[in-house]
Amino acid sequence: MSDYDSLLERAKEEIPEPISTGERFELPDLEVAKEGKATVVRNFADVLDAMNREPDEVVARLLREIGAAGNYEDRRLKLQGDHSRHTIQDRLDRYVESYVICSECSRPDTNLVKDGRTLVLQCDACGAHRPVQARKQTTQVEEEAEAVEEGGTYEVKIEDTGRQGDGVAHVDKFTMFVSGSRKGQVVKAKVNNVSGTLAFAEVVEVIEEAT
Ligand SMILES: [Zn+2]
Repeated sequence: MSDYDSLLERAKEEIPEPISTGERFELPDLEVAKEGKATVVRNFADVLDAMNREPDEVVARLLREIGAAGNYEDRRLKLQGDHSRHTIQDRLDRYVESYVICSECSRPDTNLVKDGRTLVLQCDACGAHRPVQARKQTTQVEEEAEAVEEGGTYEVKIEDTGRQGDGVAHVDKFTMFVSGSRKGQVVKAKVNNVSGTLAFAEVVEVIEEAT
């Protein structure tokens, strides 16, 4: 255990548990180890079991959240590069909040279903359903917040003007250039091209004029 991890453990013990109104969903503690240049979560199968999710549903999204390449094999999640337990835990918690926990009853007995292009979280316990991005209040994209895809349409606020006169917006880690938009507008933008973390889009609809 690194100094940082042990400090973190101690800090956690100092902080009182939040008062919960019902059953709290608990994941098993992650067993994280270094293997050469990779980082391995040894008990990832137990994590999947606790969430009642298949690896296919979880691994790709989680890797994207962490920003790592990797794969699931022999009940273990293997990440390329060096990642702290804290980071992996944090991204996993985010994943659980968005994709597993029912926002109505806070239980994990849920299923992910596709409704057109929208991913919907359905709760077996109480029957509630919501789009998975509903809890992500800081982003305004229509699709999953992690990715900007070619052909996708996103609701964005134009924060700046680029050198070529295009509006500039930020979606997650992407910088989006939106032709035909002006600073201050909120627009629906269709992405024509993605290159690395740059996205090139055009205005489909102006939702809010600049003030
Ligand atoms: Zn529910």
